[in-house]
Formats: sequence, structure tokens, C-alpha cells
Amino acid sequence: MKYYSTRDKGRLAPHTLKDAAFMGLAPDGGLFVPERIPAVDMAAVESAAAESYADMACYLAGLFFGEDVPQAELEAMVRRAYNFDCPLVKVAEGKYTLELFHGPTFAFKDFGARFMGGMLGLLNQSADDLVVLTATSGDTGSAVAAGFYNVPGIKVVVLYPNGKVSDLQESQMTTLGGNIRPVRVNGNFDDCQALVKKVFADSDFRTDVNVTSANSINILRWIPQSFYYFYGWCQWKKATGAELPTIVVPSGNYGNITAGMLAHAMGLPVKGFIAGSNANDVVPQYLRSGVYNPRESVRTIANAMDVGAPSNFERMMYLYGEDFGRLTNELSGFSSTDVEIREGIREMYDLYGYVSDPHSAVGYNASKAYGIEGFWLSTAHNAKFREVIMETLGREFPIPEGLQIAMRKQKHFHPMDVRVDDLEDYIVKSLTD
Ligand SMILES: *Cc1c(COP(=O)(O)O)cnc(C)c1O
Repeated sequence: MKYYSTRDKGRLAPHTLKDAAFMGLAPDGGLFVPERIPAVDMAAVESAAAESYADMACYLAGLFFGEDVPQAELEAMVRRAYNFDCPLVKVAEGKYTLELFHGPTFAFKDFGARFMGGMLGLLNQSADDLVVLTATSGDTGSAVAAGFYNVPGIKVVVLYPNGKVSDLQESQMTTLGGNIRPVRVNGNFDDCQALVKKVFADSDFRTDVNVTSANSINILRWIPQSFYYFYGWCQWKKATGAELPTIVVPSGNYGNITAGMLAHAMGLPVKGFIAGSNANDVVPQYLRSGVYNPRESVRTIANAMDVGAPSNFERMMYLYGEDFGRLTNELSGFSSTDVEIREGIREMYDLYGYVSDPHSAVGYNASKAYGIEGFWLSTAHNAKFREVIMETLGREFPIPEGLQIAMRKQKHFHPMDVRVDDLEDYIVKSLTD
């Protein structure tokens, strides 16, 4: 399978999977998309899903990556990556949510990060270690660290701003050890990102050191996120007997929902999608007005969705052939203020005894407002947003054992000032130990 940039309309520059994965963003600034979208056999999906998530993911991964990676290696990698559950939960009569937070970091980004980690291990055939360099404001760093942990031939250097990530997020990044090398930068998130950009722009350094990013737009994080839509569909059909769900997706950069649109293009039957946003509602506004106005993001209590210029907007346009009518036939927008998010959390708890995180509560609010037949995606475990839950519900809830383990362990990190020389020295040093 070849990959093209969304901006390469004439399809003049094909890229191999390895090139597309190592580059992340296409050289022309567009996003990579596969040359063709493989068609699924839904009967095969259903029988594989009846076995396990991993069985279903092996079938779907083979459709995209079967030509690039030997099937046996691909399957072994997929089974290692997807060793956790992905249940559709009945919150109340006719109200279903697909819980995507049962992976090691308790948020849906595990689905993409673990797949990408495993695939890079398979694709990097060079003798030298590959350095995955990434900057994080919290959640991406923990998912990438967990997803790439112990992958042979890979070192992960993850930069985070000192004092600007939660204690839990810092624990998740700094207690793994092994090939995960956290760097605590005396600066803010923008400083961390600027350092990463400078290293990528240093061509002398890059001829000596094999370095790549693990950005959320990476094709190897995007494609596997389409798989859980199939799994949710199979469970929903079993539970309700119906076959045309509306799927609600709490959205920030729109990687998750565009992966759902990819699943639909592969042949997953759906009635439509609803993009749920917080106060950063550029896409819902676009769907109403036809005018796309990216802007500065504002802070909300669902902060993983605080995005003012969603990076996957181009992929969405690509999937719908820039056809606004076709897009709005299948996609609706919805947004919740912080007050409404808290109302959703409170209502689910008071009426149904279900504890939701703030992001997933946007999904609930949209499902209710539209009276959908279908399900919403729950993108994080409530324990990751304990402070908001405490403020909203006035009590604490048990923290899952997996999160407690990380919180009890000793943190190890490399402290650093905002200096690109120091970072490059550290990368070189981390390659030799
Ligand atoms: C990243 C994230 C989102 C937003 O997902 P996108 O793919 O960027 O739209 C939503 N909820 C949680 C908890 C997240 O971590």
C-alpha cells in the first residue's frame, strides 16, 4: 500500500508505509492517507470480533498492512498491543457507550499509540536504534511512553513542561524506565515543542541520528483507531438487533472521528456521526455556516479537546471529497459549555449511577440532545480527571489499580533547560545506554 498527502491532488508523490510513518506529516504540510480504502467483509468482522478484539484487529490490520509486514509478525504485534477490553456498556435503557479507556493509560489514545509502537518496531530494520522524539502537555506523552515501552530497537525521548502536567501524568511517563527517557523541561509546553522542532530542523544531527516523531496525525496512530468502531458496532448490534447506529465522538483534533469515517468508508454501516466539542466549537460552527474559522483555543474542563485548529480537518475534507453536502448529510455538530459538561456528569451519576469523565460527558449530552439510536464513545476513565469529578459530584471514587501502581513508583527523569544543544547531547547519550 502506498500513501499520499491530502494536498497531492494529482497523486504525484507516493510514499511507502515506512516513509509515511517515519515522516508523520507529509513534506507539503498535508496529512497522509492510504492510496485506496480497503473494503471489509462485515461477516468476517463479526465472526472475528466474536472471538476477541485482537482477532478482529488482526483481520482489519491485514487489509492495510498485509503487503508491508509479514502476516505472522503483524498478528503477533496486534495481539501484544490489544490485550485489554473494549466493552460497550449499557448506561440506561437505550443509552450505550463504548468504553475506550481500558488500556494501560486509561484513555483511548492507547489504541493508536500501542499499534504505532509495535509497527515501528517491525518497520525499523536498520541496525541503529530509532529515537522517537515527542513533546507533550500530558496525555499523549503517557500513551506514547506506554505504547512504545520495551519495543526493541526504539528509544523514546519525551519532553514535558516542569510543573505543567498533572502528578498522575508525570507518574505515567516517568516510572516505566527501560527505553522510555522522560525529559523535564524548565519551560512551558511551547518551549518543549520548539525544542523538538529545532532537532527535526537540524539536518546535520539527523544524518547521524535516526529520529522520528509520534504525533497524533501519524498514519500508524490514525488507521488502527478505525478498528474499535467495528467492535462497537458488533456489540451494539448484538445488544439491540439494529444495524445503523449514530456514533457520537468527543472531539479535539478530530483524529478519532475521522478514523470512524474511515471505518464507514471501508463498509461499516452507520447512519451518521455527531462531533461533540466543548467551547472550542470550530467544527460544529463550520457545519452550521459552511465557513471554517480556526481560532485560538480556550481552556475548558475537558482539556484534551481544547483545540482551536483541528489538525485532522484536512483528512475529513479528503474523506468527503470536499463535498459539504455529503459531509453534512452524515455529520452533525454539538457543543457543551463547562456548566453543561458538569450537568451531564451529575445527571449520569444521579439517574444511572454511572461515573463519566468530562470528555465522555459531551458524548452523553449530544446523544441525549439528538435522541440518537446508537452509542457515544467514552474517551477516558473518570479517575484521570479526579479533581473535576470531585468538584462536580462532591465525592471521590476508587482509582483503578493500574493507575495506583504508577502513582506509587519512584519518578525518574532528566531535568533540562530550554537548550537544543543539551537535548541533542542527551539523545546521543541515550542511544548508547
Ligand atoms: C485526545 C483526546 C480527545 C480528542 O481526540 P481527537 O482524536 O483529538 O479528536 C478526547 N478525549 C480524550 C480523553 C483525549 O485524550
